[in-house]
Amino acid sequence: MQTASMNTKERMQEKWDKRPLIISGPCSAETEEQVIETATRLANTGKVDMLRAGIWKPRTKPGMFEGKGVVALPWLLQAKKITGLSTTVEVATAKHVEDALQFEVDMLWLGARTTVNPFSVQEVAEALRGVDIPVLIKNPINPDLELWSGGIERLHKVGVKQVGMIHRGFSSYGNTEFRNAPMWHLPIEMKRRFPGMPLICDPSHICGNRTMLQSVAQKSIDLDFDGLMIESHIDPDNAWSDAKQQVTPERLLEMLTGLVWRSENTTEPEFITALSTLREQINQVDDELLTLLGQRMKLSDKIGQYKKENNITILQTNRWNDILERAFKKGEALGLTKEFIVKYFDAVHMESIQHQNKVMNS
Ligand code: PEP
Ligand code: MN
Repeated sequence: MQTASMNTKERMQEKWDKRPLIISGPCSAETEEQVIETATRLANTGKVDMLRAGIWKPRTKPGMFEGKGVVALPWLLQAKKITGLSTTVEVATAKHVEDALQFEVDMLWLGARTTVNPFSVQEVAEALRGVDIPVLIKNPINPDLELWSGGIERLHKVGVKQVGMIHRGFSSYGNTEFRNAPMWHLPIEMKRRFPGMPLICDPSHICGNRTMLQSVAQKSIDLDFDGLMIESHIDPDNAWSDAKQQVTPERLLEMLTGLVWRSENTTEPEFITALSTLREQINQVDDELLTLLGQRMKLSDKIGQYKKENNITILQTNRWNDILERAFKKGEALGLTKEFIVKYFDAVHMESIQHQNKVMNS
């Protein structure tokens, strides 16, 4: 509960600990009126904790709107004073950090195009040495977890105590459904690597459009993310950047109200008993699957031996096609998707090839 006697630091700590943490605001700060009206309408929703706005915009092509720069920082400070919303901006250089701190920005974030560049991350990190401010780091634009982890380590090394992650999806040639493919297994792996570190989802940059925002936000909640960063604008269609993906503060409220919030744990005894019974059954099935896979590979070893004796290649494309066709038919009847069958059999097939390779070359 916010109280009048709380100082800025305490207020920010409270936000940092809040679940879910909701961050919203325009892709870019455009004018003072736009920032203040957006902030006011966001505060009126009663559901938003922090105001975001891009001040310096890393644009793909020259000539696109590159942000208002430092002149926009007083607008954010003013919006904070009027609404009580804490503020957060993207920083990519030491100068950005210095400017943002001067205008009492409460939290900083590193954008996807910064995380991808260790020189830039290090420069920002050095500027943060000895500064007590929370920092979120977006995933790099490419699906490289080492770069993402490396960025976190650079921030930890200079002494930033509160580091969090933002999942904004991964770009690749030919992305169609999403602007940036979510590749959910990657943020899940980051959660495993950095237990307890806040992980926020940015559905706006994953989707690139308004229609899928809610379903992507729901998916992140179902995966136990700690909050959301969603772009909002008083006149989305006429936004100076990312017009297609922004929503009005009122639409944001509708979306947030429509989400089903779940918690990771419960103390409800019936639920715990039912869950542990089902998990026990899953463990049994997993054990059986592993035993069967072990047996399958023993058969591959035997086949490898025959192929070696008869000087036959390991890979026979027709056989591989037959295996997949059989699996698709069987899998469909069992409710397994084609996508899963391909991934699973690919993995089994590669393991089998490795086994045969070992036998052949021994
Ligand atoms: C942004 O949040 O406006 C932004 C530039 O995002 P990203 O770094 O994810 O591209
Ligand atoms: Mn944007």
